[in-house]
Parts: sequence; structure tokens; C-alpha cells
Amino acid sequence: MHLPDLEVAKKREKKENKYITLNEDIKKVFTNKKYFLRTYGCQMNVHDSEAIRSYLERLGLVNTSNIEEANVIVLNTCAIRENARDKVIGFLGKCHYLKKNRNDVKIVIAGCMSEQPDFVSLIKEKYSFVDIIIGTHNLYDLPKLLVQEFSKLEIEVYSESDEVLEGMQYERDSKYTAWINIMYGCDKFCTYCIVPYTRGRERSRKKEDILKEVMELKNKGYKEVTLLGQNVNAYGRDIGEKFSDLLESVAKTGIERIRFVTSHPWNFTDEMIDVIAKYKNIMPYIHLPIQSGSNEILRRMNRRYTKEEYIELFNKIKTKIPNATITTDIIVGFPNETREDFEETLDVVKTCEFDGAYTFIFSPREGTPASRMEDKVTLEEKEQRLYELNELVNYYANKSNQKLLNKEVEVLVLGKSEKDNAKVYGYTDTMKLVNIEGVNVKDTIGKIIKVKIKDAKSFSLDGEVVL
Ligand code: SF4
Repeated sequence: MHLPDLEVAKKREKKENKYITLNEDIKKVFTNKKYFLRTYGCQMNVHDSEAIRSYLERLGLVNTSNIEEANVIVLNTCAIRENARDKVIGFLGKCHYLKKNRNDVKIVIAGCMSEQPDFVSLIKEKYSFVDIIIGTHNLYDLPKLLVQEFSKLEIEVYSESDEVLEGMQYERDSKYTAWINIMYGCDKFCTYCIVPYTRGRERSRKKEDILKEVMELKNKGYKEVTLLGQNVNAYGRDIGEKFSDLLESVAKTGIERIRFVTSHPWNFTDEMIDVIAKYKNIMPYIHLPIQSGSNEILRRMNRRYTKEEYIELFNKIKTKIPNATITTDIIVGFPNETREDFEETLDVVKTCEFDGAYTFIFSPREGTPASRMEDKVTLEEKEQRLYELNELVNYYANKSNQKLLNKEVEVLVLGKSEKDNAKVYGYTDTMKLVNIEGVNVKDTIGKIIKVKIKDAKSFSLDGEVVL
């Protein structure tokens, strides 16, 4: 079993990007071999999976959705989401069954969990049939490790050193929208979050490398890019750059749509607001996690802002960008959250009238300060609070969508609707999901079109193509 050197991985600031020289012998190793990839978690993991897929396909492996016929099974894990570990462990049962019956299957665990020492120990002890555990820090070693697992071949590897990974290839999920990592890691150390431990400290890519990637995507016909980082607006602090300047430069490339996730309120500057307001191709969609409305809980979360400061920022954005939609993340049931604390959260939802919110019950992550905090709130109470919160959040999401009834909006059409084959679906520049019908509607896939909204629900809109 290959295991990441956790201590080295955590301390390492310099990254090496390694490339395998594919010779005929290596190509033969992977001829007629297939891979199955399952992704858990956030956008960052989804984007990492695009890199994993590219590595596997460059080796010659072919994608399959049938795990029974796969020779390489990759689980790209997430340490943030609730029950993520249970899901991975559950899935490993199926992998074990396959391994027992076939000796040409290799199991790979990648992603954030692979950076957690207790998870790695668990796999070593109880799931030793797993062949490779690879962390987010050394993903580029995957081709080399797979070659070694399947053969005794000597492989030629050359490497480049850099502050961050450059030159990564991605097998992108979409032909129209693309994720672009602009930075890695996070320095915020919110007390409930595992990211600073699993993905390391903040490391920003160079502005020119990001702009080059944007231009390449634009030239290939991509319509939308999402600038991605755990704390995206902290971009550049380590290399003397500013996120607002990067955003402006990306806007000037002329790509049709730009968005960015996820922003931390603490790093949301006036300059950023001005740049978003100035450029039409920067989507007026801002995901701004508040997490709680209680100042005491925010303090214990180490979020570095108060409810009042958040509302002030929210109002500033709405004043300068009146058409902006603002969504948020909220955790209920943080250790020892009182009813009064929770009501502060309800109050902030009523004040801001968010266009949408991702809501979660607090779930402790081993190794974080919050996992060691005393918690007397029962699960039943937490579930009741989540229910109340969701009722309120859905009310405002619906209210926000109702404002679009009978209005014309621009939608980037991404594909056929899963529920109704005669329709297509896409997103407005404020990230509202629209199901669209009309004559020859399938010809609009990949285009930005005008749509008249006919019906509005809490989570989606229905519309008709404007001819
Ligand atoms: S800002 Fe906080 S919640 Fe977000 S990734 Fe960093 S530590 Fe985690």
C-alpha cells in the first residue's frame, strides 16, 4: 500500500509537478483497462476529480460507470461533508467484494480524508486491501503509483518545482463552464473546519498563469469560468496581489461570464464590490457564508466578524450592485448554541432575505477545536432548529424567484432537462436554475439566450425561449 507522508506533505511549501513520459510499455499496461471514479464533497473536490480523470485517461484508461468492470476504482473523498466518512467506508465494502473475486482491480482513495492521520490509520488497519492512498498535496504522483501497482516497469519522471501546482491537465465535465483554481488552502482556521489541516496554508497561483488558462478556455469556446478557492477573496495575500485586481483582469479578457466561490466576509473589500459593479461579465452572484447570526457563536467559530459587520457588508453590496443575488451557508446546533443564539440566526435571515442558503447541522470533524467543545444541545433540538431555518430560507428563496415572474432573463443553457426530455436547463447570471421550453430548444445548448419566466418555485424557474 502506498501512503502519503503526512508530516512532509503538511510542511511542504514548494510543490512539484511531475510528469510521466509515456512509452509503449506503459501504454500496454493500461490497454483495455477501465476506471471508475466517485467524487464526494465540495467544488474543490469536483475540480480535483477533473484532474484525476485527466491523469487516468492520459495513461490510457477508459471511463466506466459500471464498477464491476473497472480495473481502477478511485474514491475522491471529502472531510467536510456530514457522514462523508460513513459513505466512503460503506462503499469500501463493495470494493472489498470486487477485490476478493478479481486480482486485476486496484483501489485508490484520494482527497481530503487521505490527509487525516486517523483515517489513514483506520484504512491501514481495517481496509488493507486498499492499494493507494493519495492526498490532495501529491495528486500528481497518481500516474506513477498506478504504473508501479500494475507493473514492475521503470518509469521516467521529470518534475518542475513551483509554489503551487501549474500545468495540471483537466478532463473537464462541461464544454461551456469551467472551474479554475486560483489558490489552494486556507489560513482562517474556523474552529469547525478541517480544510486548513487537509489542504494546507493559502498558496496563490500567479496572475499570468490564471489569465493564460482563462484565455485558453475562452478560445476553446467556454462561456463561463468560476474562480475557485476555499477562501477565494484572500487570493494574492501571499504573493503581493489583490483579488479585485485579478477579477478586473479576468473581466478584461472578455470571457462572457465570470463568477467566484467561496468568499469570506472578512476579506470582502470595497474594491471588489466596485469591480463587480463595473463589469457586466462578472456575474452578480455572491455566495457569502455567514454561518451564524449570534456574535457569541461567531466568536467561538473564529469567523472574525460580527452579525452587524456582516449586515453592513451585505447592505453595501446590495446598494452598489442592486441586481446581485446573495446566498449563504448556515450551521445550526454549533456546540452549546442556545435558543437565543439560534434566534439571532433567524433574525439575520429575515434582515438579509437571502436568495438561497445551504443549511447544515453542526457535525464535528476530528482534529478541529470545535470537536472538543462541550455540547449539551440534543440532536432533536438541532433538527427542530434546522427545520425552522429551512422554512424561513425557502420562503425567501421563493420570494426572490417570484420577482422574476414574467421577466426576461439571460440564461446559459447547459443541457437537456433530466425530468423532461423536451426541455433544456441552464442558469441565469445570478445562478438561478431555469427549465426552458420552446421551438428547437435543444439547439440552444451551449448558448446564452433570452428566456421569459413563466413559473417560479423555491428552487427553480420555468421559462420559454424569447424568439
Ligand atoms: S474560511 Fe473557514 S470554513 Fe472556509 S475553508 Fe477556511 S477555515 Fe474552512
